[in-house]
Amino acid sequence: MHASSRPAVSGAMIFYSDFDDYTAWRDAMQACLPDLRVVHANDAHDPADIHYALIWKAPSGFFNRMKNLRLIVNLGAGVDSIVGREDLPAEVPITRITDPNMARMMAGYVLFAALRYARDIPYFEAAQRRGEWAYRHPRSPEAVRVAVLGLGELGAYAARELSRQGLNVLGWSRSPRNIEGIECHAGMASLDTVLSCADILVVMLPLTPQTRGLLNRERLQRLPRGAALINVARGALVDQAALTDLLRSGHLGGATLDVFEREPLPPGDPLWAMENVLITPHLASVAIPASAAGQIADNVLRVSQGLPPVNRVDAARGY
Ligand code: NDP
Repeated sequence: MHASSRPAVSGAMIFYSDFDDYTAWRDAMQACLPDLRVVHANDAHDPADIHYALIWKAPSGFFNRMKNLRLIVNLGAGVDSIVGREDLPAEVPITRITDPNMARMMAGYVLFAALRYARDIPYFEAAQRRGEWAYRHPRSPEAVRVAVLGLGELGAYAARELSRQGLNVLGWSRSPRNIEGIECHAGMASLDTVLSCADILVVMLPLTPQTRGLLNRERLQRLPRGAALINVARGALVDQAALTDLLRSGHLGGATLDVFEREPLPPGDPLWAMENVLITPHLASVAIPASAAGQIADNVLRVSQGLPPVNRVDAARGY
């Protein structure tokens, strides 16, 4: 909506994140809504003046005294750190960011990691360390089966990009999905079949009471011998001790891990030293202010006008 054709936005927006750039978010929000006041949680403010919260992992008790809060925006796609909180004001909707640029950034990471395995790059990295010209004929992409668990905003995008590379892509979700070029499966009854087909397993599920610990030892053992695991979702979806054991025993050939049961991954954790493990510090994708501010602004306007926001999180479902 054009600024001149809409009513002024009431109240202020409060920002909290230890990871994201406040100034960039404030400027991006004000570029969309010039009359929106944005304050950092550490700056002086009147809690009663706060109508919108743009937050990532705000401390406990954060919402106390914000009696006029109308909208909580989770500064990211994963909402597991907010839906279970006990200090949430009742009835205030929580939304999350589902931004195509965030999905593209995530797909870039997943493509890099999956193609690294599909093209046997870890094998050549090891050969290079030995100073050895170790020819291994490339596999055709169709011969490599990649299973993507979670076909939401991020998972479906990544699955399509993997398929565009000619890889043989399977997908798995809670409810049935229909994505061209992807063999889609749904529900717990099909999980074991999907796992048993996966040369590369990509975990893109939200962390909910249903998915916590989903990839336990028994399920990880269902992966074909030598399979690789890519986890860009949440560490607690996977039994990390079992994963470590299976990487050590060679049942799993490799893992690319962006997320862990405990973050930062503690010094001395055996995963750090494993040659078949690639570790990145939870940054597979991030929300980009200039790109995501528009949808947040639209929701600010919607709730200002008494309309329900879009991208609302279903707290009962957990995602
Ligand atoms: P969505 O909510 O859009 O999609 C979730 C998908 O998982 C859906 O396909 C859903 O099924 C499926 N799912 C949920 N519960 C189950 C279940 N019990 N059994 C089977 N399938 C299930 O999430 P996004 O794609 O936006 O994000 C996925 C996750 O990625 C986030 O929750 C977050 O944890 C993580 N993430 C990680 C980042 C990083 O930097 N490492 C950055 C951003 C996100 P259905 O289609 O039936 O609803």
